[in-house]
Amino acid sequence: MLGLMQDWPLLISKVIDHAASQFGNQEIVSRLVEGPIHRETYRDLRNRSLQLAKSLTQSGMKSGDRIATLAWNTHRHLELWYGITGLGGIYHTVNPRLFDDQIVYIINHAEDRMLFLDLTFVPLVERIAPRLTTIEQFIILTDAGHMPETSLKNVMAYEDYLARSDSDFAWAVFDENTAAGLCYTSGTTGHPKGVLYSHRSNVLHAMAHVAPDFFNISSHDTVMPVVPLFHANSWSLGFSAPMAGARLVMPGAKLDGPSLHELLETERVTMTAAVPTVWLALLDHLNRTQGRLTTLKRVAIGGSACPRAMTEAFEKHYGVTVAHAWGMTEMSPLGSFCSIKPALAGLDDDALYALKMKQGFPTFTVEMKITDDDGLALPHDGSTFGRLKVRGPAVTRQYYGSDETVLDRDGFFDTGDVATIDPHGYMHITDRSKDVIKSGGEWISSIELENLAMAHPAVAEAAVIGVHHPKWDERPLLIVVRKTDATLERDGMLAFFEGKIAKWWLPDDVVFVDEIPHTATGKIQKTALRDMFADYTFSSTASKPQ
Ligand code: ADP
Repeated sequence: MLGLMQDWPLLISKVIDHAASQFGNQEIVSRLVEGPIHRETYRDLRNRSLQLAKSLTQSGMKSGDRIATLAWNTHRHLELWYGITGLGGIYHTVNPRLFDDQIVYIINHAEDRMLFLDLTFVPLVERIAPRLTTIEQFIILTDAGHMPETSLKNVMAYEDYLARSDSDFAWAVFDENTAAGLCYTSGTTGHPKGVLYSHRSNVLHAMAHVAPDFFNISSHDTVMPVVPLFHANSWSLGFSAPMAGARLVMPGAKLDGPSLHELLETERVTMTAAVPTVWLALLDHLNRTQGRLTTLKRVAIGGSACPRAMTEAFEKHYGVTVAHAWGMTEMSPLGSFCSIKPALAGLDDDALYALKMKQGFPTFTVEMKITDDDGLALPHDGSTFGRLKVRGPAVTRQYYGSDETVLDRDGFFDTGDVATIDPHGYMHITDRSKDVIKSGGEWISSIELENLAMAHPAVAEAAVIGVHHPKWDERPLLIVVRKTDATLERDGMLAFFEGKIAKWWLPDDVVFVDEIPHTATGKIQKTALRDMFADYTFSSTASKPQ
């Protein structure tokens, strides 16, 4: 017997309709790529998205068409999300930090029909345009007054494109499983792979993350998504903040410490989210300028492991609560969040920060397990680690353009991460399965060594890779960027680990560099580091697992 409730498809248009009707005057503040601060309301955002949907329809765009964006976080990028999906189209966020060849591959593979780009990316797109085989029109996200000279053909300013229509348009209505968004994984191995979100998956994912134990967003918040809309759906914030009626601050192209600090303070931001490298820059700026964070209450940090030193700095020096988030493009992208369950309230300082290093427990829409290589479930004892697998309505089952399932026989997706799960349900990533250091038949967690190194006051950034060792297969090599003006040498660095880890985990050597390479999503690029140190040999073979 079926229930007798209404059929109300979970469409993205419902989100912006709700925001505009209940929080119509709530502001979206954007730092424009052209420079100034722009303000509009949810009511404006809805009207302009309707206008855009109408213009797109007039350009012949229809349900199922892919439309690419190469853009920073601004109101215009959000309008694209709502306008494109409102007619049944698919927004395809392209990460501008990828290599030209990858961008060309992704746009051609998706067969995008239009490309909306920020002024910043005009030179990039001019360079690759001859190789884009399916793009019919380029729209530059600016007004006529700021249109640059460009070699792009069939190009128009966004504000002119919008002005071709009014907002007298009705959102299309269709099955909630219809595709809504496309985002390619960064493709550290092989070609990037397309993850195709649906209306239903985006709406459920956002609803789950508004909740108090997760982002805990309400209409009393001012939310600044620093994590880009092109990085895995901006961790849902493009949907969850409007759903909750939160005021939004979109930081545009300026993601450096001083610019972020200025916006956090002048726009009285209460909640924000981004990868650790962004916060390294902010904390460094605050440290140098004796800056304060007077309104910020919560920061979600994920994308790569958040070092304990960073969590403690935010909480102890600036009074900002840090929650570790974990996820991946294939999961829309959020999988878990580290808020404190009541059973763990009242932990002492040390135990609390040890807990906060874990990636947390899954949201309602995510099921999680760890298994051995044969798929056998492993215990949730906090020490056994295995392959982390997930299942849920916002987890991918197949990549775009492929007809192979990526699920195991129980319908779980193997995340490629290695993790433990403790009896309270908290998951802790030990490593990416390809980054874990295999030494003498045992595994060493590169993440744990990096986090410890980062706690040294002279260390700005640290990475650990496994380097071939004739006897032990692999041994850890620590690569360190020193803080400006700090002095630190190999022995001092290694002494810092003493008593904190098993002896055989101690890195065999320390190399100091000026810079550590990062991926397009701000993570340490281990593949590049492994290439850089491919010929590295340890000067002494004395260290051994014991
Ligand atoms: P990319 O950001 O490189 O485009 P993803 O966002 O899909 O790709 O990357 C997902 C991976 O990032 C996860 O499988 C995991 O290895 C890593 N990751 C994400 N969040 C965390 C975290 N909080 N701690 C440790 N690793 C994380």
